[in-house]
Amino acid sequence: MTANITRRNILRMAGAGTAAAAVSGLAHAECRNTDIKWDGTYEIIVVGAGGAGMAAAVKAAQTGAKNILVLEKLAFTGGNTLIAQGFINAADPVRQPRQGIKDSPENHMKQSLAAGDFRGDPERVRVLCENAYGAVTWLESLGMKFKDNVIQIFGALYPRSHIPALPKGQGYGTVLTKAAKELGVKVQTGMAVKEIIREGQFEGPVLGVKVMSSKGKVSYLRATRAVVLAAGGFSGNQYLRELHDPRVKGLGTDNLPGSTGEVAMAAVRIGGYLVGMDFIQSTPGAPAGKKMKLLLNFNVNGSIYVDKRGNRIVNEGERRDRIRDAVLGTPERYGYTVCDNENFMSYDEVNRKAIHEGIKINEAWTAPTIRELAVKMGVDPDGLEKTIDRYNNVFVKNGKDDDFGKTPVNLTKRIEKGPFWACYTGMTVHHTMGGLNTNTKAQLLDWQGKVIPRIYAAGEITGGIHGTNRVGGNAVLDCFVFGQIAGENAAKETIL
Ligand SMILES: Cc1cc2nc3c(=O)[nH]c(=O)nc-3n(C[C@H](O)[C@H](O)[C@H](O)COP(=O)(O)OP(=O)(O)OC[C@H]3O[C@@H](n4cnc5c(N)ncnc54)[C@H](O)[C@@H]3O)c2cc1C
Repeated sequence: MTANITRRNILRMAGAGTAAAAVSGLAHAECRNTDIKWDGTYEIIVVGAGGAGMAAAVKAAQTGAKNILVLEKLAFTGGNTLIAQGFINAADPVRQPRQGIKDSPENHMKQSLAAGDFRGDPERVRVLCENAYGAVTWLESLGMKFKDNVIQIFGALYPRSHIPALPKGQGYGTVLTKAAKELGVKVQTGMAVKEIIREGQFEGPVLGVKVMSSKGKVSYLRATRAVVLAAGGFSGNQYLRELHDPRVKGLGTDNLPGSTGEVAMAAVRIGGYLVGMDFIQSTPGAPAGKKMKLLLNFNVNGSIYVDKRGNRIVNEGERRDRIRDAVLGTPERYGYTVCDNENFMSYDEVNRKAIHEGIKINEAWTAPTIRELAVKMGVDPDGLEKTIDRYNNVFVKNGKDDDFGKTPVNLTKRIEKGPFWACYTGMTVHHTMGGLNTNTKAQLLDWQGKVIPRIYAAGEITGGIHGTNRVGGNAVLDCFVFGQIAGENAAKETIL
């Protein structure tokens, strides 16, 4: 097989910083990697041990593949999936009818597409939503426990968010690690994938990966069936995020340091194509100069955002990008979340404990009355009292929010049972909607939309699913739906 010397290929190699190699390498067809000396051989190599990667590995093993290796750059597994709140959306034929909620995968799909301004790929969004409840029950079959009710979490736009019984992503980490172990999947931490190796740089099948251990040892690992990329997004890469959306300049991130986008860049060097990179999501977190990410906003019904004058600033059930704009649009570029004790008690112990820690450093507050709370927060007490009185006695009472249009389903709870609670609400970079282009089979696509053989991608490393604005609770879902699809299809590849 000879390499194609096209202007596009040369430009791409130049973009990867290898202009000279591009010309001489292509001329001598030295981009072919058939003579590499491999240090290890596996059927499937999964890059990244977060939700998508572990789901892919487990599903591949369940499908019959053997000798599966998961490579994780950090010293521990779990990725952002472990620190996520863990809410996962699905139209649920069991829980939702019990709560009188009408829903369907079709409804979920339509809402997700609209929330992303129709910039998501409708085919992949359909697969996401049609397989959502199946992902929940697959996780349950592995031992995952969810609460019996669903809620509408912040940015989810509809009450279909399933709540893990264990705090955060701990449940996912536990059940997937156990299943992987039982199925004989090998997981190696401290192993960063640096390059993806394809037979020819832009043609032929993917053969394996180049890895560097945390001690600096380089090895070449062969994958005889396929490689699955599941290395997460690029929120942790300040250069990439500000390059694609200068509006996030100055904001921190709530992601783990592993979220650098380096594997997506390696995929581009073998022909992968990036889409939607400028769609970057920010969500509530610590304002600049404050220490803790404190949250009282998951349960939209019964919590409100206010500014320093005590005025409400947005419909709390709005799209995340609109909430970001409202918070960053205040003169201070931050606001506060306020709720009552019933709402506070609906959060898990990890979040409640964080609020208590925040109180110690004056980043969260509690008080028996709204007035006392406002004084502690440094917010205008008259303003906050007036806002909460209007919220309870006009909007909740009438089931109609004349100021911001909060939907009636999220207007059933007054903020009236003390003690009352509040925390700072700034903005932090949370999720990157852009990434590698894939199809409904989770196959990696090149710039022409052609399948790159024997490589799959799933989870936040991919782009083109969530459009401009990801719905809260759809990211963990994305990992488990497309992680499974990638794992299953990788396992069905013939052995080379
Ligand atoms: C604080 C927080 C709360 C969230 N809450 C929710 C929620 O409730 N619901 C929801 O739907 N979404 C939520 N999200 C988003 C969601 O958690 C993520 O989009 C999702 O978990 C990403 O999963 P992933 O498997 O794609 O990536 P990750 O879980 O991040 O895993 C990727 C792994 O790849 C590793 N890696 C990176 N580079 C390399 C390399 N070169 N070689 C080897 N390994 C590498 C990383 O270290 C990481 O462990 C939340 C995110 C955060 C940060």
